[in-house]
Amino acid sequence: MLAVITARRSAAFVSRSSFTQTFSPALRAGQERSFSRTTLSMKLQTAIVGLPNVGKSTLFNALTQTQGAEAANYPFCTIEPNTGIVEVPDPRLHALGKINNSVKVVPTVLEFVDVAGLVKGASGGEGLGNQFLATIRQCDAIVHVVRCFEDDNVIHVDGSVDPVRDAELINLELILADIAQVEKRMQKVKKERKMDSKEGQALEKVFAVLNNDEPARNAGLDEEEELAIKSLGLLTRKKMIYAANVADSDLATGNELSKELEKHAEKEGATMVLVSAQVEAELVDLEDADRNDFLESLGVTIDDCGLRRVIRESYRILNLQTYFTSGPTETRAWTFKKGWKAPQAAGVIHGDFERGFIRAETISYEDLIACGSEAEVKKQGKLRSEGKDYVVQEGDVILFRFNV
Ligand code: GDP
Repeated sequence: MLAVITARRSAAFVSRSSFTQTFSPALRAGQERSFSRTTLSMKLQTAIVGLPNVGKSTLFNALTQTQGAEAANYPFCTIEPNTGIVEVPDPRLHALGKINNSVKVVPTVLEFVDVAGLVKGASGGEGLGNQFLATIRQCDAIVHVVRCFEDDNVIHVDGSVDPVRDAELINLELILADIAQVEKRMQKVKKERKMDSKEGQALEKVFAVLNNDEPARNAGLDEEEELAIKSLGLLTRKKMIYAANVADSDLATGNELSKELEKHAEKEGATMVLVSAQVEAELVDLEDADRNDFLESLGVTIDDCGLRRVIRESYRILNLQTYFTSGPTETRAWTFKKGWKAPQAAGVIHGDFERGFIRAETISYEDLIACGSEAEVKKQGKLRSEGKDYVVQEGDVILFRFNV
């Protein structure tokens, strides 16, 4: 069957294809499962970690309440009590929706997992020990919440507020857990007399770095070595963002404590963002207008206040980019990994798009905005017909044509 799919106009326009069913509201039993398989590669989870009482749950709850996404649009996401699907804020979506008079605008999402139970000695089984480690291992990135607020009413597990000490404590637990993992694997590789393989070399490099109390991401592995140890799921190879949890009055510029943490993060080549769990918790109950007034009084805007920055930064460190499909029924953002070619990026929507890929009719977001309509884009010759070797660019607005 030849099915030329007008994904840019909207997936729902497609007739007589299983694809339509996947997007139509009345899904038959079992169909979500096929969708979930094709999009599994884009199920991206970020673990929220940190010592107890630093504000993780407060932040997580605010994330899922203010930035939470309608789960029905994202059947590939898991819905568990400690997992939240969060919209990736993107003002371009609304601009595109306006140009094409879209009925619906659907952002792309990330999943956040609230990981409780990380305490000193966790790598040796203290607290929830191995259970929390296994959860982090499944995630793609880590947001490490560090307490940078003073409040005598909130007990600190170590008796005083010291962000660098706290950060190092958590990092050490992750390092110790990785050492155990690497040692176990090395024993096996040694037994098989394969230490001169790529894997053996990578393990040795990582082991040396970890024993120096540094994260495995500092081991300077080449691509092949990275690949050779990927399946170990080392915790300290994952990208990490520090979220400095400050008082509301420090949200705009930070404080002495967050500055210390920032220096520490810089040394590690990591990023730090300022958040205020307290502010985020208050925002949950406010109407839009009150929200803006409240944030203005703190010297920040909705776009640069904590949570949105955490989401955007998570997206960035995971090397993710966005392309759009847009038409009267729906304008939608899709996540792909930087460097992906058109068929692979098409596969994020549905496996059929990848398998039967013919071409990608592509307009850059900037061109579409500058021209004001697709008709004008065409008139100016800015609609490109891209083939299977085209590397999709950030902000491309694409109509995939395929044949299955
Ligand atoms: P978790 O154990 O890291 O998940 O921490 P929670 O989110 O449960 O927060 C622990 C306590 O600290 C709660 O009583 C929160 O209300 C409080 N808390 C969290 N963030 C802040 C903050 O930014 N400022 C103040 N003053 N208290 C906070």
